[in-house]
Amino acid sequence: MNKIGLEIHASLKTESKLFCDCPNDKTASANVNTCEICLGHPGSKPRTNEEAVKKTILVCKALNTDLRNELVFSRKNYFYPDLSKNYQITQYEEPLGENGFLDADGRIKIKRVHLEEDPASITREDNNILVDYNRCGTPLVEIVTEPDISSAEQARLFMKKLLRTLKYLRVLDKNSSLKADVNVSNKKNNYVRVEVKNVTGFKEIQRCIEYEIERQKKEKVFNETRGWDAQKGKTYSMRKKESEADYGYIYEPDIPIIDVSEYLGLSLPVLAEEKIKFLVGKGINSEDAEIIADDPDIMSFFEKAMTSPVFSAKFFRSMVLGILNYNKISIDDYPPGPGEMKELLVLLESGVINEKTAKNILIKFLEGGFSPKAFVKKNNLEMLSDKDIDVFVDEVLAENPSAIEDFKSGEEKSLNFLVGMVMRKSGGKANPEQVKASVIKKIS
Ligand SMILES: [Zn+2]
Repeated sequence: MNKIGLEIHASLKTESKLFCDCPNDKTASANVNTCEICLGHPGSKPRTNEEAVKKTILVCKALNTDLRNELVFSRKNYFYPDLSKNYQITQYEEPLGENGFLDADGRIKIKRVHLEEDPASITREDNNILVDYNRCGTPLVEIVTEPDISSAEQARLFMKKLLRTLKYLRVLDKNSSLKADVNVSNKKNNYVRVEVKNVTGFKEIQRCIEYEIERQKKEKVFNETRGWDAQKGKTYSMRKKESEADYGYIYEPDIPIIDVSEYLGLSLPVLAEEKIKFLVGKGINSEDAEIIADDPDIMSFFEKAMTSPVFSAKFFRSMVLGILNYNKISIDDYPPGPGEMKELLVLLESGVINEKTAKNILIKFLEGGFSPKAFVKKNNLEMLSDKDIDVFVDEVLAENPSAIEDFKSGEEKSLNFLVGMVMRKSGGKANPEQVKASVIKKIS
């Protein structure tokens, strides 16, 4: 029996940092977004960013926590170059949210949700340590679960659902990935807790848990802090675990306690679960519904472009998402608007064009949006009528008597050959299923 708990750090999307007016932009060149507040110069006075507070409250609400009326910050003292003021402003004694839950293959209790500042980012290059203070002081929300997770797979499902929820809340900074500290223990070792620090991204969190479960079955387990080496796929010992008391927390004296009761009534947007229900209610199977509703931007695009639901869902999942994944772009970066996509769906569904033409149009969309209806007309891409197809079929059969004989003597391949010849003659504009039916009918 394993007990796994996660402490997840998610970067919030805000205009400015948590306690100063510096832009919250981690893509800028190093150390341009800094000021006396986020660098902690003596005498500088932090001011709390209202946008970050509201977004944290939304996270608390979506995770069903109890909410405090007051926002209380504390200082976590430590000495390290990623925080030039030698302490991090965080919430310790009184987190904004407590006692929540998220259902993911069973109920996972959420112990606490709090707001804090991110330290600077550090990279090692040869023998140098490079520090970029652009990230220093940007808002982070920390979500701590109870050790209710029992497997790497359940952790994956939990993370997936959490990420989806944060996306629907539109609180996430897209330039940062989720990070987690992972606690793993098992019954055999009397639940002696090992914490693996700073595991970045979904897949790595799952791999790290899988590794640690196996390691703890074989090795003697100490209460310690470990690191994750993604390249080797192993955890390694860093230090014996320090306790929270070692950080010497004190209440933050520079920031007054802020009354946040006016924000507690903020209402949540429609979340993924409701969207999935909506799609399933339209007759779409739950697997397609889960995939389409996983991303709020795709979902909102789909809702605007949808013709008949089941047909549209199949087309989206197999064709549109295929193009996005293959080209590694998001729906925002894909040029056509929902109106243009809807036009394409209508052409395909009503049989004006075949799937091959639809796919070619989806590819052409990568260059820019256009009206599929006008494009099909201009390039003469309408699917051929039964009568036109019959003419081509007759021609092909007359030209290939031996293939007919082969088919009659049981060679399936020659049927494909004949269909292929007709498709070529039609310039790809016939419906292959229709061609096949016509060929079989005429031979027999
Ligand atoms: Zn600043």
